Amino acid sequence: METPPPTKPVEVAQEESRDLRNTLTYAGMLTLVLGIMIFASSPVAISLAIPPEQTSLMAIASAGVAILGLLALWRNLPVRLISQVTMVAYTLIITLTVHYTGGPVTPMPALYMLVIVVASFLLGRHGAMLIAILSIACYALMLLTEYSGSVSLIPIWGMEIPLRERGPLLVINWLIVAIPALFTAQLSGILAERLQDTNAHLRESEQLQNSLTHMIIHDLRNPITAVMGGIDLLLMTMADQMDETQKHLLENTRHSSQMLVELVNELLDINKIEAGKFVLNLGTVDLYRLLSESLNAIKATAELEKQHLALAPAPEHTTVIGDEHLLRRVIANLLSNALKYTPANGTISGSLTHEGDSIVVRITDTGPGIPEKERERIFEKFTQVQEKHIQRQGTGLGLTFCQLAVNAHGGQIWVESEEGEGSTFAFRLPVAGPQSAEVNLRSV
Ligand code: ADP
Repeated sequence: METPPPTKPVEVAQEESRDLRNTLTYAGMLTLVLGIMIFASSPVAISLAIPPEQTSLMAIASAGVAILGLLALWRNLPVRLISQVTMVAYTLIITLTVHYTGGPVTPMPALYMLVIVVASFLLGRHGAMLIAILSIACYALMLLTEYSGSVSLIPIWGMEIPLRERGPLLVINWLIVAIPALFTAQLSGILAERLQDTNAHLRESEQLQNSLTHMIIHDLRNPITAVMGGIDLLLMTMADQMDETQKHLLENTRHSSQMLVELVNELLDINKIEAGKFVLNLGTVDLYRLLSESLNAIKATAELEKQHLALAPAPEHTTVIGDEHLLRRVIANLLSNALKYTPANGTISGSLTHEGDSIVVRITDTGPGIPEKERERIFEKFTQVQEKHIQRQGTGLGLTFCQLAVNAHGGQIWVESEEGEGSTFAFRLPVAGPQSAEVNLRSV
């Protein structure tokens, strides 16, 4: 039976395309600067004795190769093919530049080494070796055409050396370029391979670690649920035989077990979204209904804590395409934070606005606010603001989950806050919903 060809992991392909994009961007910028410098015939260009016209054309050509490469990447052409074509194009352009800037007397052949090093990272050891062989073949061809007189003779090291004496000098000159080119290809190829191997090992061990963590977290849920069941049973059947302290202790234990279950659930969800295994259950979601139902759900707790709840009137358009269950949990998480951090007599309010092609949900509280330097960080895993006056009793995962869920819908989440005044957590969702139901880490 024929085995299917191994598919390249998505992450590796993304990495390669990012490497190529960076290479082309830098190459394009560098050559554009060089072109401008030569056109302007700046003192630097003059001191390098670079003839402006042809070399500018070469600079423009290499910037053109970079732009075409970026366009090809944008059109989703295979990364490897674009890398091969651009590396070959750069080798040819460098050969012409070497010729126009003085053939054997120019320092330009050093540019071959640069292309070989880049090729080793983009095309591997063999690819770099092929580019090195192409470079030295092109260089040999150029010297040969100069020697045979097909193109104008260029003085070597400023001397008009007679044709018959030029041969050995040109061979030496060629060797001076050829030997380092081959060495560079070999060495940078080995280095690139080692880096790729290390990367692959790291990725493998990270995956192993992730799946182990996932297994442990998953297996934690059952014993905790059993503990909670036991406590519930005790509270239901034996509450009247217990004194207040015993009851209080049991209730505290139940509360802590509940928090552990929440932590486990959040960790499992975050793992799932990050691993790209979360499939959104898309449908039409009325965000205003979700917001008002979620506010209703916290009404009793808010009353107990003497907090006020408010909901702004609905705008004309309140629906988006999304995963209702996930979005409900986002709102619940933000409201639960607002409840946690708002003092008695404070207000928690919700509002919805229709802005262009999106709907923005805002949840505002009159809590302690969040210091500016912490505002970006609070969306990271396990981040909690270290403030004395804030009572910490969460997991530091709620906002990470909210960000992953909102981003998976093609939206953004952010916080606006004034220290001592309160915070507004807002998220924007496109009315048309995410482009795909597959949650992809790239969109997260
Ligand atoms: P936690 O479970 O700790 O609440 P989150 O990820 O939900 O975890 O929040 C991260 C941190 O952001 C919190 O520990 C808190 O310091 C800060 N934070 C979140 N919401 C608010 C809010 N409404 N007011 C003040 N601080 C907040």
